[in-house]
Amino acid sequence: MQASVTSLARKEAIQATARELLKFVNRGPSPFHVVAECKSRLLQAGFQELKETEKWDLQPERKYFVTRNSSTIIAFAVGGQYSPGNGFSIIGAHTDSPSLRVKRRSRRNQAGFLQVGVETYGGGIWSTWFDRDLTLAGRVIIKNPTSNQIEQRLVHLERPILRIPHLAIHLHRTVNENFSPNTETHLIPILATAVQEELEKGMPDSGSPATQVDRHQSVLMSLLSTQLEQSPEDILEMELCLADTQPAVLGGAYEEFIFAPRLDNLHSCFCALQALIDSCSAPASLASEPHIRVIALYDHEEVGSLSAQGAESLLTELVLRRLSASPQNVTAFEEAMPKSYMISADMAHAAHPNYLDKHEENHRPFFHKGPVIKVNNKQRYASNAVSEALIREVAARVGVPLQEFMVRNDSPCGTTIGPILAARLGLRVLDLGSPQLAMHSIREMACTSSVLQTLTLFKGFFELFPVVSRSFAVD
Ligand code: ZN
Repeated sequence: MQASVTSLARKEAIQATARELLKFVNRGPSPFHVVAECKSRLLQAGFQELKETEKWDLQPERKYFVTRNSSTIIAFAVGGQYSPGNGFSIIGAHTDSPSLRVKRRSRRNQAGFLQVGVETYGGGIWSTWFDRDLTLAGRVIIKNPTSNQIEQRLVHLERPILRIPHLAIHLHRTVNENFSPNTETHLIPILATAVQEELEKGMPDSGSPATQVDRHQSVLMSLLSTQLEQSPEDILEMELCLADTQPAVLGGAYEEFIFAPRLDNLHSCFCALQALIDSCSAPASLASEPHIRVIALYDHEEVGSLSAQGAESLLTELVLRRLSASPQNVTAFEEAMPKSYMISADMAHAAHPNYLDKHEENHRPFFHKGPVIKVNNKQRYASNAVSEALIREVAARVGVPLQEFMVRNDSPCGTTIGPILAARLGLRVLDLGSPQLAMHSIREMACTSSVLQTLTLFKGFFELFPVVSRSFAVD
């Protein structure tokens, strides 16, 4: 039987949205790149950049964003009907993903190989980093020789330059029973050989002992300085993530899957960002809006959120206080918090067909069945009956199905920014995310429909939440 025209059109819409996510993921190999990509999309959509260091003059129906450390970004759109003391409709997510990061002194030489010392960041499945075509991305701090100013530049080497090879099975007969690489000794990527480096003279010599050139392989400094069009000596410091060069793609016989790095949590970042932009694109929608619509995409979730720009920091409160500040109403912020609501968006574990017993039988999220509400009464997730009921009402109005996840009692439970922000701000929080497989692998897997579903839900949340919540207060 032929697929109907509507189902084909629907598949096209689903794939078009998923392809936009692929672009976003491919442009986000480090948290700095994720924030840069968000900035560029926000500027294109008419948002204005603010600086924390300056005074803000905010106007109704205008859109703004602010960044901290270039790795956390908060964007917001002020409703036309907003007055101080009104609530915030917030979607939070995180810009970081587990990765290997280049050490501050990374030069390693063993057995004729030039290697790069790395530190593990977050809870990655490190075995998946073996035999991948790896590269580097992140930020570099340079001293501009012309202006003498210190500047930050982003760098992303787009070809595979690093590799962590597996040990041959002949030398490791039990590898299929238990492969547990030592993260200090077995994860050091190879960059080049000393033999080849000898042949390729013309590499910059190692400079004075205090410079980066001395702390890192000179060929690495040369690659970075070529891309930056700076001399290696001008590089003062750098924070570099290793990343897979294989781009994110659609996969599966029907192209219904997404095979990609960093779906946790760039999937949520993308949906939050695009929902905010889309919800403001119809002018009428923001004109009648009584809330401020906010997205907050934080760094450092994968290492516990405790940093100047993490979810645990004061940043969110400082920004929301500035947004509600009013000489006429000194308790505007305190009034706004109980009217506000945050979707803490982070990915959820889909049921794995080969490991079905890892999920409790009534709480098995499946692909294509909708975003997943995550519940944990021990408060590893912040959802409760109130925040769940409110999102169910929004989801019903925009026609997005929802699923539920609770972890087995005999299994550990992950956590995310939801409980942290609920505790810090005292607002209603819902933990929710799209179902995915292979979380924290270098290459993860999700379904295409989850992107459009989540985007539709988030856009619906921004547009409908003030109305939906008006009819419902517990305290
Ligand atoms: Zn996550």
